[in-house]
Amino acid sequence: MDKLQEEKIEKLGAFEIDELLIQAAEKNKNFLNAGKGNPNWINTKARLAFCQLVEFGVIESQRTYNQTDIAGDIATAGIYERFSAFLTTRDDETAEFLLACLAYFKTEFSVPLDDLVAELIDGAIGNNYPTPNRVLKHSEKILATYLKEVLFNGAELANETEIFPTEGGTAAMVYIFQSLKENKLIRPDDKIAISSPIFTPYLQIPELHDYQMVEIDLQSSEENNWEVPVEEFEKLLDPNIKAFFLVNPSNPGSKALGEKELAKIKQIVEKRPDLMIITDEVYGSFVKNFQSVYTAVPHNTLLVYSYSKLFGATGWRLGMIALNQENVFDQAIQNLSENDHQELTERYSLVTLYPDKMKFIDRIVADSRSIGLYHTAGLSTPQQMMMVLFSLTHLICLEKPDRYINESKNIIQSRYELLHDQLNYPMDNSELNSKYYSLIDIYRLADQLYGQEFSVYLKDYFEEIDFLVNLAETTGVVLMDGVGFGTKAGEIRISNANLPTEDYAIIAERILELLKDYHLRFLEAAK
Ligand SMILES: *Cc1c(COP(=O)(O)O)cnc(C)c1O
Repeated sequence: MDKLQEEKIEKLGAFEIDELLIQAAEKNKNFLNAGKGNPNWINTKARLAFCQLVEFGVIESQRTYNQTDIAGDIATAGIYERFSAFLTTRDDETAEFLLACLAYFKTEFSVPLDDLVAELIDGAIGNNYPTPNRVLKHSEKILATYLKEVLFNGAELANETEIFPTEGGTAAMVYIFQSLKENKLIRPDDKIAISSPIFTPYLQIPELHDYQMVEIDLQSSEENNWEVPVEEFEKLLDPNIKAFFLVNPSNPGSKALGEKELAKIKQIVEKRPDLMIITDEVYGSFVKNFQSVYTAVPHNTLLVYSYSKLFGATGWRLGMIALNQENVFDQAIQNLSENDHQELTERYSLVTLYPDKMKFIDRIVADSRSIGLYHTAGLSTPQQMMMVLFSLTHLICLEKPDRYINESKNIIQSRYELLHDQLNYPMDNSELNSKYYSLIDIYRLADQLYGQEFSVYLKDYFEEIDFLVNLAETTGVVLMDGVGFGTKAGEIRISNANLPTEDYAIIAERILELLKDYHLRFLEAAK
């Protein structure tokens, strides 16, 4: 590859480089793409249950009107009993799951069960605008309870947590940056802290012309097994840092914050009570006894979650924003200057009589539809129901281990082990390692296999991108460059989510083959 081409490529984001590598590798008959974080498994239970909600919903609709393909609205009165009867006659595993959900509602919810079931059925049918637009009423409680069970490690915060379901974590991120900016909580030239390496958009968005923020890195590295050193958090004491963005467990580092780090953050926030924290915890369920940043500093933390990874649901686009009823984002809005207040009052008075009182989370909803379409804002109701059903698969097995979650952890774990084993590359078996991605330092691997002189040669003569392009072209294996995520040169991200387990041995083999090739060239050159 020539220098100019190389420089152009290096300007691209990690996912765009990945696209080029795929094009290079696709022609190879041994094509293997381990770049994708998309899981290659799905949750079947919730999906089948969704079908039964729709099926019953159609029967219900036909009760009120039934002509050819046209049916009426559902009726709420008595729907709980009718749904129970429908499920009892179905007598399959899916109906059994839904009956268990109904039993769960009966013991856990003190609301009229007809209302709750009507929300589910109407939601699945999707014949009404999402109302309330932020989130359906009972659904919010189910989603908050799910968050408590998978991310809060028992902390009793569900009742004070408000939720806005979004089109995946992707939309959550876009909406958050947008509303932070619209509400003047972050401004051009403001400093924001980022725990890096990190999922690329958190590095790329703040640098865009629209935002122009100054990034301060809290850096983790392989030497520390991708733990953020506790001292790094001290950087947050700088009062000019407005917000702290992190992915926890991290991507690509895959490491969750532990007790020590959470205690440190709590301590920092005591001195920086205004600090806004945005934590993306989509991999939380892959760590045993995971504990969210939100539990340590609930009033300072906005939480992002997505169903994409655990449930194999990237095509559904299911994510959410969660925020405590009392939070520093609302406070920061209250503390804005008179001028800023006036401007924002004007903005939001188009959709509410009390713009001053409009909460940050509701502002996010309004901003997500450019204010003017606030009345039709909100995530599609069938999507909300799919989230509810995924959540319920976990909530109804609280008494026993959740076999689905355990199995998904095992899949990731066995691929991680096979890959590291075959490469003879050190493993990090700490409980806080989600193992969703492996970061392999090719220079370290080269050193391990053929000595330091070769490793230095590799660094001097070949950019990491050469290695990846070569790997793609000659072996068909696609891996991602860690540099785009903010790692030092040489780190390569391998997703343990997307390929059949046995393929991880093949990937290791091909990496080793290519290194051997480079080593032969090194020996030739040394002659
Ligand atoms: C995969 C991923 C997401 C999920 O995004 P979706 O839009 O929900 O698919 C969010 N954040 C991080 C860090 C991710 O790796």
